[in-house]
Amino acid sequence: MRLRNLLEYAALESEFYRNTLRQADVERVTSSRDLARIPMLSREALMANLEGIITSRRQTVHGKSRSTSGSTGCRLNVLNDNRFVLSQYVRQIRQWLSCGVRPGQSHLFLMQSSGSSEVGRLRSRLDTRLMNRIWLLFTSLPPLEEELWVALRLLEQKQITLLYAPPFLLGALADLKSSSSNKTRGPRIIVTGSELLHAGLRRHIEMSLGVRVLDGYALTEVGSVAWQCVVGDGYHVDADEVILETVEGGQPIWNKPGEIVVTNLSNYAMPLIRYRTGDVGILTDRQCSCGRALPILVSIEGRLRDHVVCADGRELSPREVARVVGNIVGARFHVVQESADTIRVGLPGMSQDEATTAGLRKALSCLMGPGVRIIFETSDQTGIVRGLKQAAVTSKCHALHGRSSASEVECNGEFADHE
Ligand SMILES: [Zn+2]
Repeated sequence: MRLRNLLEYAALESEFYRNTLRQADVERVTSSRDLARIPMLSREALMANLEGIITSRRQTVHGKSRSTSGSTGCRLNVLNDNRFVLSQYVRQIRQWLSCGVRPGQSHLFLMQSSGSSEVGRLRSRLDTRLMNRIWLLFTSLPPLEEELWVALRLLEQKQITLLYAPPFLLGALADLKSSSSNKTRGPRIIVTGSELLHAGLRRHIEMSLGVRVLDGYALTEVGSVAWQCVVGDGYHVDADEVILETVEGGQPIWNKPGEIVVTNLSNYAMPLIRYRTGDVGILTDRQCSCGRALPILVSIEGRLRDHVVCADGRELSPREVARVVGNIVGARFHVVQESADTIRVGLPGMSQDEATTAGLRKALSCLMGPGVRIIFETSDQTGIVRGLKQAAVTSKCHALHGRSSASEVECNGEFADHE
C-alpha cells in the first residue's frame, strides 16, 4: 500500500516521474516484486532532473534540506519532508534499542571535522554536552593523538554506553589504546557506518576496545537502510521505510552480489524510486536467528566502482580484496588498483618485512591471477582519503568494469555519498 501511494503521488506531482511511470505502465506495479518494471534512477539522472523530481510537497510542508557530505566533489542538496525526517529518527531509535541501548543512557559521537566554519564552531566546544547524555567530539583529519585521548577519557569518565564513529576513527582509537596499554573501560556497544568495515579492522577494534562492533548502512539521500543486530552477522533492512533490491542488469537477484537499489517510501518531497546506490551487496531470503522478520542483507561488498578488475575479467569486491590482505597484515593497509596489471599496497613500515610482503604477493597473485605487478609503499593510513572518509580498497580501472556504476559521476570522477 505504501509503495502504491508513493507511486501514485510521484506520478501526479513530479514532472519527471509523470513521464517515467507512464512509460513503465505503473498501474501494473502492485508490489515490490513488480518494481523491476520501473527504470532505475542513477545519481547522474537525479542531479540532471532534480527540479523535475522534486514535488509540490516542497511548498506544502516545511521541507528540510540536507546536503551530501561532498566527498564526491558533487554536493547534492536532498530535500526531506517532515515525515521522512521523523522516520529517520524512528529507524535510529529502533537500531539502538535492538542493541540494548535504553533512553537516557550516554552516547559519544566521534566524528571527523572538515574544518568548515560550521564544524569549526562545534569543534571549539569539544566537550559539548547535550541533554546531559549525548557527547559530540570532532577530530582533525587525520585525528590528533590528544583528540583521541579526550575520547578515551570521556569513555571512562562519562560511562559511555554507545560509541558511534566511522571505522577509520575507531581504528585510530584502537591503535592508541593498544599502543599505550591504556586500561580505559570501553563503551558497552560500538556502532559504526559510512565506510566499508573490513574484517581485519573489525577484529582490531573489537580486540582493542573489548566490545562488539555493529555496522550500519545508510545513505544521505535515503537515511538508514540496514543495520546489524547483536545476534546475526547480516544487516536487517529497514523494509518498512525502504525497499532494497540487489540487481544485475536491472533485474532483482538474491544470494549473490548485485548493485543495491533503493526506493524510499517516506520522502514525498523528493521521491527516490529505484535509486542506484553504486554499492554492491548480497540479499538473501533467509531470516536472522534473532527472530526479526526484516529482510537480511548478508553482506555489503563495497562500491561497484572500487571493484578490482582481474586480467581474466573477474571483478573482485573491495571486501574480498580486504579480507585477503587483512588476513596477512591485520587492520592497517590500503590497496589501489592503478592499472589493469598494477596494484599498489600501502602498509605501515613495520609490516613491510620480507615474509609479510612475500606472503601478500603470493596471496594477491592467487586471487587475481599471474602477471599482476604489486608495488609496496609505506603508509600509516587505513585507506585512501576521500573527503571525510577513507576507502581501504579502491580502483582506478573503472573503464574495465563490465557493469557500469551509478556513481560514475563525471563532475569529479568520485563516488556517491554515504552516511
Ligand atoms: Zn537479527
